[in-house]
Amino acid sequence: MIPAIIVMGPGGGTDFNTARTFIINNWDVFPGILESYGVSLTSMFEGTRDFESNTQWNAFRCPAGCNRILPLDCADLDHMKARATISCVKKPGQGGLGRLNTLTPWEVYDSGAFLAINYQNGATEMLNYTYNAGSITYKKIGFNTNATSALNDLLACDATNLQPLCPRCNRSKGAK
Ligand SMILES: [Zn+2]
Repeated sequence: MIPAIIVMGPGGGTDFNTARTFIINNWDVFPGILESYGVSLTSMFEGTRDFESNTQWNAFRCPAGCNRILPLDCADLDHMKARATISCVKKPGQGGLGRLNTLTPWEVYDSGAFLAINYQNGATEMLNYTYNAGSITYKKIGFNTNATSALNDLLACDATNLQPLCPRCNRSKGAK
């Protein structure tokens, strides 16, 4: 099972721009975080390069076919499984949020806990949730209040489904 690792933004909410900012800003530790949960991004991780400047820049190898090593600053953030095809299977009882492998739908239970990552410091935390008719209610990270979100919007910020892509490959990939 690949656990969902939801990038949680300011105020305990989720949005894609926050997820992108977090991953770009924490590229030095991000692959290690995913790897500790059994998800490998190391083939894309190229440490830092100077790119013919006087500064070292975070670098990635574009995984979409061009195979180039590029500055992470220039990357688009891509959903490996396309945003429009994110889907969930409801299971009875209690459990986590995750998927069997990168091709299968996510699984959600009546209630349980999922893994969130705080965009400010990269700390991970298990957040209790309840699920009802496409919506998920969970405790905000760092707060004692709850938030409710469409489950698919939450899963759009699952770090295990996000990767940097060069803009050219992202364009030719289209909405796939
Ligand atoms: Zn590319």
